[in-house]
Amino acid sequence: MSKLDSVVPEKYTLDSKFKFRCHKGIKCFTHCCSNVEILLTPYDVVRLKKRLGISSGDFLEKYSFIKIDEKSSHPYAILKMNDDERHRCPFVTDEGCTVYTDRPANCRYYPVGQGTLKKDTEDGPVDEEFYFFIREPHCYGFHEKQQWTIESWRKDQEVDLYDQVNRGWRALQLRKNLLGQPALDPQKQSQFYMASYDLDKFREFIFTSNFLNIFDIDDETVEKIKTDDKELIQFGVRYVRYVMMLEESLQLKQDAGKYRKNK
Ligand code: SF4
Ligand code: SF4
Repeated sequence: MSKLDSVVPEKYTLDSKFKFRCHKGIKCFTHCCSNVEILLTPYDVVRLKKRLGISSGDFLEKYSFIKIDEKSSHPYAILKMNDDERHRCPFVTDEGCTVYTDRPANCRYYPVGQGTLKKDTEDGPVDEEFYFFIREPHCYGFHEKQQWTIESWRKDQEVDLYDQVNRGWRALQLRKNLLGQPALDPQKQSQFYMASYDLDKFREFIFTSNFLNIFDIDDETVEKIKTDDKELIQFGVRYVRYVMMLEESLQLKQDAGKYRKNK
């Protein structure tokens, strides 16, 4: 969820304390679920498509739109708000979030935001994570007395599981504004998008094209990605890193050439 003019720029750590409580009786209940830009992560799409009993393609078509990030040229799926006066989230009702136990990572984090900074170390530059608070005038949660650390908030909201599954993809996402990195062409953008979000299509591509004749993938991985979406997210990151030429994260088979020509 983002409204950047409301962001308090101080940087906080996992130990930082804050007071907050969000509950059904609060007068701003669901006010934060309208007119917001919620960037979806791969695991958000997995959880929501399962919740709704639809394919990743149908979920993306109905509930999201693509936004190309200006700095990195990466394509991201953004949750599509309703096309009405209030631009409400399609999953909100007066009773609250109808997909609460499968809500996206950014909804879980709120009112905490996450960022990274490049820090110079003896071993070269590393990304350092920090947290910040999003204090919006309509949110009364900060007036409540329940105390948290950012760490206990993350656990309570079960966002630590999301971060674990999305870790490799998040590392890709943070590769913004790298000097000398060429922008992704439309074909690479579409491969990035499919392997990040449209996992049912990605699986179909792996198992019905010459993919497994071209790339040398071990049997254990092949078995896992047949059915396990969390494994497929990790494999998708390997594929995107290969496509973006960040590393040789996939190896070609010795006779790959004949399949590539016949594709
Ligand atoms: S998914 Fe749920 S929590 Fe997130 S904005 Fe929509 S209604 Fe609110
Ligand atoms: S505005 Fe704040 S307190 Fe109110 S429902 Fe949203 S998160 Fe909870």
